[in-house]
Amino acid sequence: MVNTKFEALKEKDHLPSPKGIALKIIQLTLKENVTTQEIARAIMTDPALSGRLIKMANVLMSYQTRPIASITDAVMSLGLSIVRNMVLGLSLVEDSRDGACRKFDYQNFWSHSLLTAIAAKNFLDGRRMGAAEEMFILGLLARVGSLGLATAYPKEYSLIIEKVGAVDIDAALIDLERTEFGIDHNQLTKEMLADWGLPQIFQIAALHHENPALSDLAEGNRLWHILNILHIAYYFSKACLLHGQQRQKMVSKLILIAARQGLEANVFTELADKTVQEWRELSKLFGIRSVEVPLFNEILQAALSDELEVLDDEGASKISLEACYALRILLVEDDCATSQVLKFLLTKAGHTVATAGDGVEALGMLDKFIPQLIITDWHMPNMNGIEFCKALRCNDLWRNIHVFVMMTQDNLDRMEEIFEAGASDYLTKPVNSKVLGARLCVTQRMVQLQDELKVEHQQLRNVAAQLAASNQRLQQMALTDVLTELPNRRHANDYLEQQWAVAERSGRPLSCMIVDVDFFKRVNDTYGHKVGDDVLKQVAQILRSSARKQDMVCRYGGEEFLVICPDADAEQAYQYAERLRQNVAAGNIYQNLMVTISIGVASKTSTLSNAEMLLQLADKYLYIAKEKGRNFTVGR
Ligand code: GH3
Ligand code: MG
Ligand code: MG
Ligand code: MG
Repeated sequence: MVNTKFEALKEKDHLPSPKGIALKIIQLTLKENVTTQEIARAIMTDPALSGRLIKMANVLMSYQTRPIASITDAVMSLGLSIVRNMVLGLSLVEDSRDGACRKFDYQNFWSHSLLTAIAAKNFLDGRRMGAAEEMFILGLLARVGSLGLATAYPKEYSLIIEKVGAVDIDAALIDLERTEFGIDHNQLTKEMLADWGLPQIFQIAALHHENPALSDLAEGNRLWHILNILHIAYYFSKACLLHGQQRQKMVSKLILIAARQGLEANVFTELADKTVQEWRELSKLFGIRSVEVPLFNEILQAALSDELEVLDDEGASKISLEACYALRILLVEDDCATSQVLKFLLTKAGHTVATAGDGVEALGMLDKFIPQLIITDWHMPNMNGIEFCKALRCNDLWRNIHVFVMMTQDNLDRMEEIFEAGASDYLTKPVNSKVLGARLCVTQRMVQLQDELKVEHQQLRNVAAQLAASNQRLQQMALTDVLTELPNRRHANDYLEQQWAVAERSGRPLSCMIVDVDFFKRVNDTYGHKVGDDVLKQVAQILRSSARKQDMVCRYGGEEFLVICPDADAEQAYQYAERLRQNVAAGNIYQNLMVTISIGVASKTSTLSNAEMLLQLADKYLYIAKEKGRNFTVGR
């Protein structure tokens, strides 16, 4: 449908087309075996065109040290196809400085187109010979469809322009054009470029230059890059022709889009200023107007103070960075535009992102932010990516954090430096979202494994702690009497052995007493075993609270207790024993039941050779106490 519409317009000769010398040159270049001389001679028949072409060749090829002095020289340097397209462009400008469409500003159209052309040439990181010159022609002709509509439908297009008016929204314009003419300016541009024999890459780039997201080109390929550069150039020239806030807003968005193409903010502003200056020069040559534009650094500073506006979904272009395992990512990048773009992509994918401007700032944030992945630029002020990596790897807390270092294509041959510094992986700038997605996927898996290991490790530690605690409890239980909660016989024997050894070494006194409840069988017989247990518990309680702190009171057997008294001689021990006996006798233990104890007290002397003998002696005295009628203490 587009084609037929275009064919109809072309047939009626309603479209701008190369005439005269330009037409002749186009025909010549279609000829096989055409020589440089033939082309040069044809151009030279038009002195004005020749002059412009030489001058333009010099501006475009300013990187050449030797100036271009003649048409032959220009044709030789630029090559046939570029010269042909340049002549085409020049003749179009020449033939359509003015026209019948009242509301179509022809001057402004060419001024804008020229600026787009220069911007496209400069923003292209063109290593390929002739690429920049081709971008220039693409920029110059990218909106020639608008001129076409103005030429074919002067009255109708005037009305449409009036309707869209100062709003100047491309989408609104396109809608009206399609309704009114059955073809919009971008579609028409594409057809015209095709008709003039310009490469298909140009046709597609021109068709989608207002909204690259509508093309289905794969991120990162050459055509995608050309399209996006043209897009940036077009909005750049639009921004230049705007003022104040409007310009600022557009520039801040532009800076982000440029960063996606690997044009960092400082490079972008430099190229922008250069572009404006070249525009002023070439405008004079073309005899069209240009306007004053402030230095881009100033525009950018103003834009930055308003916070860069985040890209919309279209601008970000088809991202697939699914966050199957959300990460905490620290972005370290001195270029704020690149940083913003990456932050946007990563946040959109569900990750938590913090940013730092250089290594020093990043190091200061680690403790609080605790990143699982760090994506750092290589070249940064204060502390670059390599130094930062090394600093990370020196610290035990940070050595396991995954680190990607971003590097430019030019630095790829210095790759081993980043791995030597401890990087986990690298990313080339501009960062391709597919590549980033793939790298993140690996990192997510690794971090997930690390986290799971950490959890397992913690669980093991918990189990170990529980085991230690229960072991301690078991040990405690093994040494404690269940009924009275006093140390049991085993514990008592160990302790007595220990104290015996201490007393042997130090020559300090040691005593012990065996305590036995009097007529306890009767308690059981009269009141039952349960009451008997209670009585034992209470006797134990009285003994414990009546003894000194350093004495160990143990349950030695049934209704017998052993009290070990370090640092107590016979006299002192006897006193303590008496106190125990009296306290038990005075204790109101069970109703009016009279509970008493008998005690045998023995002290360490030189005639006793071990703890066992001390116990036997105490037992002997206890027996005597019982003999004496009970409720009695016997020592010595
Ligand atoms: P003596 O004055 O000669 O020591 O007389 P006794 O009745 O206290 O001595 P005997 O050795 O004849 O009796 C001790 C009793 O203590 C026998 C036993 O049933 C009781 N007995 C031992 N252990 C426990 C216990 O844990 N709980 C209770 N309720 N009774 C116990
Ligand atoms: Mg940098
Ligand atoms: Mg007994
Ligand atoms: Mg007894």
